[in-house]
Amino acid sequence: MTSPASGASLADLPEYAPIPKSALGVAPNEQGYYVGRVERNLYWVTDGVYQAAFLTTAEGVVLFDAPPSIGHNLQRAIDEIAAEDGVSNTVTHFVYSHHHHDHGGAASIFDGNVVRIGHEETRRLLLRDGDPGRPVPDVTFADTYTLEVGGEHVELAWHGPNHSPDNIYIHFPGHDTLMFIDVVNAGWVPIYNVNLSEDVIGYMGAPAIALDYPWTHLISGHLGRLATRDDVALHQQYIADIEASAREALAAVNPVPFYMHYGENFWAGVKAHLDTVTERAAAPVIAKYTGVLAAADIEEFTRTTTFQIMQSLRLDRGPSGPVHP
Ligand SMILES: [Zn+2]
Repeated sequence: MTSPASGASLADLPEYAPIPKSALGVAPNEQGYYVGRVERNLYWVTDGVYQAAFLTTAEGVVLFDAPPSIGHNLQRAIDEIAAEDGVSNTVTHFVYSHHHHDHGGAASIFDGNVVRIGHEETRRLLLRDGDPGRPVPDVTFADTYTLEVGGEHVELAWHGPNHSPDNIYIHFPGHDTLMFIDVVNAGWVPIYNVNLSEDVIGYMGAPAIALDYPWTHLISGHLGRLATRDDVALHQQYIADIEASAREALAAVNPVPFYMHYGENFWAGVKAHLDTVTERAAAPVIAKYTGVLAAADIEEFTRTTTFQIMQSLRLDRGPSGPVHP
């Protein structure tokens, strides 16, 4: 048993609403992974929290992402499928969805004669961060790239920054599938701060771009099941509700009394004002989605996402405040 540091006991931890059935996914095997067919020779792997994908071809295996939490189970999953299908289990190509360690940190496990492919910004960020676990891609692209291996076609595309500056859309036109990581969590709310995303406007617009592609299955990078178009639509509604609620709260809450109250401590005035706006905006969203999206009642998640969207409404869209007369 582990217990939280700093003297707190597990009994003090908060209780949350039950997880909706729709949020739950597959059960990992004894080794800690699940591998399943998406369509034909496209497979997905999960440990229950992270997801990767691979394509078996006549020329070798193309691997998409290598989360360290799945780690060496990626090769075990590939071995299992390759043995069943009687095809090569050698990873010959590796594609980065984006530069983050939690999705690519086991890339260096595949260190043979592997062609690594990624967005040019992924290469730049990986060179900056200098992690030997994530070798830089040799093949890069700016807007689109068609990967052709063993008669299979995969379309890679960058449509602007969203979760990260380099997060790409990976379309499998022959498999009715899109892989797009860290924006939509099927059946679950985004975690802190719009799923730890850097470009809020880009994050909010990304699901519509994903839906512009034809697909039935979405590999979203997290949790224990594939996503559907309905999952993306529900996520969009959650974000749209936060945006509308934040807009209403920004207009409704008068900042002046908070600044008057705190006088020369300007930052205390800022905090009181913005915290009040955030609480007002988040409360109806938490109430609406508890029991619909898992973890909507983890207040920090809906609240920090609301805070981030509210800040983006002020700073990106504007106005941040009235222009002094
Ligand atoms: Zn990420």
